[in-house]
Amino acid sequence: MNNLSLYGWNDSLFQLKQASQYKHLFHGRVSAVNKTNYEVITESGLLLCELTGNLLYGKSLFELPCVGDWIIFQPFDDNKGIILDILPRKHTLYRRKSGTISGRQAIASHIDKAFIVQGLDANFSVRRTERFMVQVLEENIQPILILTKSDLEFDRLQVDESLKHITRQIPVFFTSILSPETVHPVREFIRPGESIVFVGSSGVGKSSLINALCERTVFVTSEISKSSGKGRHTSTRREMVLMDDGGILIDTPGVREFGLALDNPESLAEIFEVADFAESCRFKDCTHVNEPGCAVVEAVNSGLLEQEVYNSYLKLRKESWYFSTSEQEKRKRDKSFARISEEAKKIKKR
Ligand code: GDP
Ligand code: ZN
Repeated sequence: MNNLSLYGWNDSLFQLKQASQYKHLFHGRVSAVNKTNYEVITESGLLLCELTGNLLYGKSLFELPCVGDWIIFQPFDDNKGIILDILPRKHTLYRRKSGTISGRQAIASHIDKAFIVQGLDANFSVRRTERFMVQVLEENIQPILILTKSDLEFDRLQVDESLKHITRQIPVFFTSILSPETVHPVREFIRPGESIVFVGSSGVGKSSLINALCERTVFVTSEISKSSGKGRHTSTRREMVLMDDGGILIDTPGVREFGLALDNPESLAEIFEVADFAESCRFKDCTHVNEPGCAVVEAVNSGLLEQEVYNSYLKLRKESWYFSTSEQEKRKRDKSFARISEEAKKIKKR
């Protein structure tokens, strides 16, 4: 028997369930997505569930259940079920589907905190951290930066300096699985019933950290290699585990490229501190590239805003613009333009 409140079930989810036509049936949480079925944690144990045809109809791929989703199911046989409904998503981490400009992919849903994991070895990248942070903030998930492998040699001053603009906004932990005392503060940061998603490239030590947080081996990792900090991780499937002191930990497979799926590229200005300067730009609709009187460009020139941070802002903004002006959006806009011009014609005729 499982107590689903340990897996994050709460009053507001209960309220969401009341709005479903299947509210009298059982609910559970998706813990893994397989090729042909879903693993669902339910009160009576782990079930393998499939989707009803109705749920598949007219849905985009990213709307199908992902890890962390709460679903309503009808059990059959001993350990099987049919998923009849998906509770509305909240705080979902998306990314751009690789190989597309505007496709979306759901990584994990009903998430409270995202641990952005980076190794303090050759993997360390401020630009990648920004990328994850921006996407996490888009869904009002709390980002936390975890710098792993702190037992390896690294330049602390340089790391601190390059992360200044990030650490002003979010908590940072330095960890090493060789020193449990570096992992304890991270564990204390996780409250019972909270869902934590771990994101980061493959090999940064996500599984090792999850094992250390659970004080047992829940994920298989390859042998530790002290010299390079490199190793091979055997699991590629997303997984969800329960920490003893509460807290639901969700591992995600490392992706080569984490593309942004932002609906609101303007929010980037806030995150990159561009917004602070933008208030003083001469033009309200300044794009902060080459307009006269642009306070952002001025801030870069005078060294108040770092050139690299500004470049990164421009790059992510461009990528997000591409995303948010996807085909679908364009069609929608075309439609409303058509309506507006129809109305304009009518007004002219009057
Ligand atoms: P994942 O792909 O992000 O899940 O990474 P893993 O947890 O599988 O770790 C990748 C490699 O890094 C393995 O060889 C680990 O032993 C090693 N590793 C993980 N954490 C640490 C750490 O704190 N210090 C050192 N030196 N190596 C680590
Ligand atoms: Zn400007």
